[in-house]
Amino acid sequence: MTAPTSGDEPKPWRVEGGPPKRSRRRPWVQLVVMLLVLLAVNWIVTSVLLRPEPRVAVSYTFFVTQAQKANIEEITSTGDTIEGTFREKAAYTPLGEKKSEQVDRFTTERPTFAADNLFALLQAHGVAVNAKPPDAPAPVWQQLLLGFGPALLIIGLLVWFFRRAAAGAAGGIGGFGRSRAKLFSPDSGPRTTFADVAGIEEVEQEVTEIVDFLRDPERYRKLGARIPHGVLLSGPPGTGKTLLARAVAGEAKVPFFSMSASEFIEMIVGVGASRVRDLFEQAKKVAPAIVFIDELDAIGRARGGAQSLGGNDEREQTLNQILTEMDGFTGSEGVVVLAATNRAEILDQALLRPGRFDRLVTVSPPDVAGREQILAVHTRGVPVDPDVDLKKIAATTPGMVGADLRNLVNEAALLAARRRHETVTTADFGDALEKILLGTVRGIMLTPEEKERTAFHEAGHALLGMLTPGADPVRKISIIPRGQALGVTFQSPDTDRYGYSSAYLRGRITGALGGRAAEEVVFGEVTTGAESDLDQVSNIARQMVGRWGMSEAIGPVTVLPAPGTESPLGLDGVAPATRELVDSEVRAIVDDCYSDALRLLREHRARLDRLAQALLAAETLDERAAYEAAGL
Ligand code: ADP
Ligand code: ZN
Repeated sequence: MTAPTSGDEPKPWRVEGGPPKRSRRRPWVQLVVMLLVLLAVNWIVTSVLLRPEPRVAVSYTFFVTQAQKANIEEITSTGDTIEGTFREKAAYTPLGEKKSEQVDRFTTERPTFAADNLFALLQAHGVAVNAKPPDAPAPVWQQLLLGFGPALLIIGLLVWFFRRAAAGAAGGIGGFGRSRAKLFSPDSGPRTTFADVAGIEEVEQEVTEIVDFLRDPERYRKLGARIPHGVLLSGPPGTGKTLLARAVAGEAKVPFFSMSASEFIEMIVGVGASRVRDLFEQAKKVAPAIVFIDELDAIGRARGGAQSLGGNDEREQTLNQILTEMDGFTGSEGVVVLAATNRAEILDQALLRPGRFDRLVTVSPPDVAGREQILAVHTRGVPVDPDVDLKKIAATTPGMVGADLRNLVNEAALLAARRRHETVTTADFGDALEKILLGTVRGIMLTPEEKERTAFHEAGHALLGMLTPGADPVRKISIIPRGQALGVTFQSPDTDRYGYSSAYLRGRITGALGGRAAEEVVFGEVTTGAESDLDQVSNIARQMVGRWGMSEAIGPVTVLPAPGTESPLGLDGVAPATRELVDSEVRAIVDDCYSDALRLLREHRARLDRLAQALLAAETLDERAAYEAAGL
C-alpha cells in the first residue's frame, strides 16, 4: 500500500517527469527567510535609494567665496545652517588635510557674528534662497511611512504566513477552496495492483480496459475510440471499491487522486466547487491520471426531492462542478474519474448520463470462493499454521466482505501474538471470529437470577432456530455478557443466501421473538432485555410488507422507501391510509409469529429447560453441544 505524501503542503503531489518538486522547507524556515529578505530590502531602500548623497561640510569662508564666484545654484537655510548645491563641482580642501575633494552638495554653518550681507550677495548672483523654520517636522507621508510601514509589513507578512500554513494543513482556515485530494504518485513506494484484489474477478475484467487506456492513451486517441469519462463502482461498504480504484491506478502506473465527496463540502458555499476545480486542474496537469471520488452519494443524491429541502446549495454547486468538469473532457486529457457509492439507486440521474459516469460496475460481497481468495491475499504476510484451512474459514463467514475478512485475519494474528504462538492457528481464527461475530466479552457479573433468565432467553432463541424448518443452523449460544447484550445466539447459513422466502423470514421473526416468549412461558413476565430483538423483528416485518410484497392486503407493490432513504419529514408520497395498512399488516405478522413462538416453546418445554440448564452449566455451547442438549 502506498502512503499519501505528507499533507502539510498546499500541493503535496510528486510526479515522475512531472512538474519540479516543490521545496520541502518547513514553514517556519520560510518565515525566517522571508524576514531576512525583507530586512535586506528595507536596508537597501533606506540606505541607498532614499538617503541622498551625504553633504560635505564646508567652511563658511569657502561658501562665501563660491557665492562670490556665482557658483551657487540654490540654498536652504534652517536657522544658521545653510545647505545647498554648487553650480559646478568645487575643489574643497578641509582644514588639516592635504587632498582636496570635489564638492557638489554642501552644508555649512553661518557664524552668528557674521556681519556680512549674505542675502544681498546671494541675490546679486541669482541664487534661489529657501528658508525652513528650525526643527521643522518631516512631511506627514514620511512620518506615516516610517511610523507604520515596518509594523504593516510585519503584520502583512504574518497574515501571509499563516494563510499559507493553514492552506497546507488540511482543513485549515486558509485552506478553503483547495482540494485536499490525496495523491498516490508513481514514485511513492509500492503500488496496489490487481494482485491485492481478490474474489471480484468479474469487476476486475470491467476495469482492465481503463488500465489499458491509461497505459497508452495515444493508441486509443489515434483510432478515435471514446473511453468512458467516468466509472461508478457501486456496492456495500468494505467490498473493495477503493482498493479496486487504487489498483487500476497502480496497474496503469498513473497518479491517483482520491477524495471523499463529503470532504468537498464545507460550511461555506462555493468552497466545494472550487475544490473540484482545483482537483481536476491538478489531475489534468499530470495526466494520464485517475481521480477517485468516494461516497459520491454524499453530494450526488437526486435533486429536487424531499431530501434537498433546506441548505443544499453547496452540495448542488459541488455536484454541478463535477458534472461540468466531466462534460469538459474531450477524451484527450487522459483523466478517468472513478467514483464509489453504497447506493447507486439514489443518485441523481444527471450523473449517469453519457459522457459522465456512463459505466456502472456493481461490486458484490464475495461468495465462498471469493472469500477464500481474499483470505489468501490477507494471509500472505502472516505465518499461518499449516493446519489452517482457509476454505473452511471462508465457509463459516457468509456475508462477510473484504474489509471484514482482513479484520478477521488481523484479529487472529493479534490473538496468536498475545498467546505467544509461533504461527496463527485454527483456534486463533475461531476465537477471533467469535469475538467479531458475538462482540467482545464484557467483564460484568450477573446475579444468579439474571443469569437464569438470560439462559432461558437465549435457549428460547436457539430452540426456535432449531425447530423451524429451513432456519439457519444455530452455531453458538452464550450467556457471557458481550457488548450491549447479556447473551448471544448466533446462527448462520450453510451456504450463501441471495434471496429470502417469506417462510424463512417468518422463521427469523419467530426466532427473534423466542427470547421474550421463553421469558413469558417460564417466568410469566418479560424484561427489557428483548429490546434489540424487537427492533430486528419490526425491521424484517416492515420490509416484508412495505418492500417485498409479502402481505396480501398490500399486494406485490413497494410502498415504503428503502431503509436509510426515508425522508425525515415523511414526504415520501405514501398515503396515510397505506401507512396504516402497513402498520396493521406488520402487527398481524408479528402477532402471528409470537403465538407460534409461545406454542412451540410450550410444546417443547422439556427441551427448553434442558438447553437452559446446559447453558447455565457451561455458559457457552457450540453447535454440537447445543443440539445435543436440546435433544435434536
Ligand atoms: P470500500 O471502498 O468498498 O468501502 P475498501 O476498498 O475501502 O472498501 O476496502 C477496505 C479494505 O478491505 C481494503 O483496503 C482491503 O484491505 C480489504 N478488501 C476489501 N475488498 C477486498 C478484496 N476484494 N480483496 C482483497 N482485499 C479486500
Ligand atoms: Zn434476545
